[in-house]
Amino acid sequence: MKLIEHSDLDILMRVLRGEGYTVVGPTVRDGAIVLAELTGADQLPTGWGVEADAGRYRLVARDDEMTFGHAAGPGSWKSFLHPAHERLTTAEWDESGLVFHAAAEPPPRYAFLGVRPCDLAAMGVLDGVLARGAYPDPSYTARRDGVFVIAVNCTEPGSTCFCVSMGGGPKAGAGYDLAMTERLDEHGHRYLVDAGSTAGQQVLDRLPHRPAEPTDVAGADADLSAAAEKMGRAMPEVDLRQLLADNRESPHWDDIASRCLSCANCTMVCPTCFCTTTEDVTDLTGDHAERWRRWDSCFNLDFSYLHGGEVRTSTASRYRQWISHKLSTWHDQFGTSGCVGCGRCIAWCPAGIDITEEAAKLVDSHD
Ligand code: SF4
Ligand code: SF4
Repeated sequence: MKLIEHSDLDILMRVLRGEGYTVVGPTVRDGAIVLAELTGADQLPTGWGVEADAGRYRLVARDDEMTFGHAAGPGSWKSFLHPAHERLTTAEWDESGLVFHAAAEPPPRYAFLGVRPCDLAAMGVLDGVLARGAYPDPSYTARRDGVFVIAVNCTEPGSTCFCVSMGGGPKAGAGYDLAMTERLDEHGHRYLVDAGSTAGQQVLDRLPHRPAEPTDVAGADADLSAAAEKMGRAMPEVDLRQLLADNRESPHWDDIASRCLSCANCTMVCPTCFCTTTEDVTDLTGDHAERWRRWDSCFNLDFSYLHGGEVRTSTASRYRQWISHKLSTWHDQFGTSGCVGCGRCIAWCPAGIDITEEAAKLVDSHD
């Protein structure tokens, strides 16, 4: 375990940019902490935190200078790996006839700085869906291959977080190149850094660093244990896969439907929701056509359209589909849960619907 100073984050970003990476990380914009391309450490959200609750998200000034002392914002790394709107093909008429062109320019080589452990787990879930299946998605794999991941262990969970009960935090699991734990006290502002890959070690070797003191390692471990105890929420400790399978006809779905707006916010902010639709567009000349892919949602009525009509016409059936897929049938399809406990769907639901609370109500009604 090594130690770097806070002032060395700029050098880290310079090294990554020098290696050809586009560095993406958290920054303050429009009253939230969002993910965006960064060119310097001064763009990181130092001194900013977040207050979140069901249907509520507020950016707040911290009373210290922590840089990664905030829970997940509205955006996730999914936006960079599986963009919300993406051109798949174009077609043109020329002298030889109709000519198709494959998508676009090669994607940037990303370095993701500040990946929370829940979001690292979410990237693993997305990999299972879009990269490791029988039909890997070429756009996703082109973006995902070679991403340099700098995880930041979570010492400050928000009140909507429940990664511990989903097994994804507060310490980063496998899949990072570097993992950092931020420490800020009378001894300074610094990061314990652990290399998880050869590429990570090579970058770390180029930074000013020193061996971590045993007191720093023990302090970081204590901070992470405290964070695990401070999780704002928890999933009920039951077999969620079976719970949802046993509750297909629960009257509770109508109760949720009386509150749910079917707005799809929960699926848009979720770092693992991956559903898309395709759209073909032409220009007025008829000489040029494009096929686009954009995010879709199981909360949209036409998402379940089959010949002759939609299958899930009620909000109750659409919410049931979403939560059952997340917590139950995802296991059948992909071998994991579809939820990593990031809490975004709770904070960004305009009706304040809380996936942990709805699961707990199903447990109660089932007993
Ligand atoms: S379902 Fe909600 S808590 Fe779970 S990963 Fe998606 S947004 Fe996060
Ligand atoms: S659960 Fe909330 S965020 Fe999701 S569709 Fe319903 S109202 Fe929208």
